[in-house]
Amino acid sequence: MRDLDDTIAAIATAPGGAGLAVVRLSGTRAIAIADAAFAGGGLASAPANTLRHGWAVAPDGARLDEVVAAVYRAPHSYTREDVVELSCHGGRLSAERVLGALLGAGARLAGPGEFTLRAFLNGRLDLAQAEAVADVIEAETSSAHALALAQLAGELSARLVAITERLRDAAAEVEARIDFAEDVGGVEVPAPLAEAIAGAESGLAVLLEGAAYARAIREGVRVALVGRPNVGKSSLFNALLGEHRAIVTAEPGTTRDLVSEPVEIAGIRVTLTDTAGLREGGGEAESEGVARARAALERSGLVIWVIDAAAALEEGDRALAASLAERRVIVALNKSDLPAVVGRAEVEALAGASPCAWARVSARTGAGVRELESTLARLLAGDGGTAGAVANPRHVEALERALAALARAREAAADRAPGEIVALELRESLGAVGEVTGETVSEDLLDRIFRRFCVGK
Ligand code: GDP
Repeated sequence: MRDLDDTIAAIATAPGGAGLAVVRLSGTRAIAIADAAFAGGGLASAPANTLRHGWAVAPDGARLDEVVAAVYRAPHSYTREDVVELSCHGGRLSAERVLGALLGAGARLAGPGEFTLRAFLNGRLDLAQAEAVADVIEAETSSAHALALAQLAGELSARLVAITERLRDAAAEVEARIDFAEDVGGVEVPAPLAEAIAGAESGLAVLLEGAAYARAIREGVRVALVGRPNVGKSSLFNALLGEHRAIVTAEPGTTRDLVSEPVEIAGIRVTLTDTAGLREGGGEAESEGVARARAALERSGLVIWVIDAAAALEEGDRALAASLAERRVIVALNKSDLPAVVGRAEVEALAGASPCAWARVSARTGAGVRELESTLARLLAGDGGTAGAVANPRHVEALERALAALARAREAAADRAPGEIVALELRESLGAVGEVTGETVSEDLLDRIFRRFCVGK
């Protein structure tokens, strides 16, 4: 897949009845190959960044479609290679036939993400930027899109470079000391080095602090509505859905069982699950409630615990409270249109109940539903105001490793351990950061990353 000598071609647009489709071609022979399948003024002589109008043609001259060819010359193109983009008509046949002509003229069908991979290998994008291309395309909410664009613009990489700048000097300095001094009693760690390590540690920690929020933005969050039967879960579920434009791309299965619906709240894709819909079997009310809650809980990042505030608490509530310990929970005291029987004090008295937030609502009248959403939004946003943070789990994992290695370097230095050990940890940390930017990257990692892309990106 990584043969840069080939000229690759693929349809870059989604299939279907669109006005246009784009067939993309990149490599040393891109212009010559496109020229062979193009009638309407030679592309070979076309200056960089120009358009030519004409027809895509089969080898026998038969017209395949009317097209506009955009000609880019290396290194001023998406891949830094010669690139031709043929815009033809959308629909089922045009792009396929144009692509067929290009393959017939000597191009090879591109693998998943191969254009972007070339952009990375040729140094136009670093790895975090290349990955952001897929995130921009897959973003479903405006904040996920903004996060991906920031990464595409190189903000994450720039922050990582700034964080590791002094660390590089520090590592080099420790290494120099190892060469000069026999490590009797370990290396003396100069103050600037200790500062460089501490600075990088806090820089990485700040980036990682916003990771949970950034990840919620990128991947969405599951929110489960749990509670005893008849407390109003389904009613509240509908009230919450009613307030929002549902996100159109439903998850597989959601249209069938209708217990989960994706909505956008505070710029985050929230998959709301009504556990009332998970009703199965008869069973005792309590155990049924707990079992239902468990199923949804396993997968949710946040829970709305619905309580019927117009009826006394029951054993079922206590059992639920116990299963909600350690969870991020919003208590919704529902049926606020009826005289209150239960309040915060009673719920707090239940074993294990330690909710993050409270809301008084009436699913019936809609009172308090807006406030419940604001509470939800506030909890989803957490204290991670730094939306430009790390969202990709691969990045989070690598940066956590980098941070752990720094802590070990700091401790080793403080213990006056041999300089080799300090240097080793510093190099390990820099290596882990390099996995994010792509400075240190294996073939295997590249394969895993670009497999996620589709052909034509
Ligand atoms: P679930 O079993 O927890 O999903 O509860 P449902 O949503 O099916 O509601 C159970 C009953 O409570 C239904 O008769 C609802 O109309 C009623 N209900 C739900 N929310 C409210 C509310 O806010 N006020 C009042 N008065 N009744 C409600």
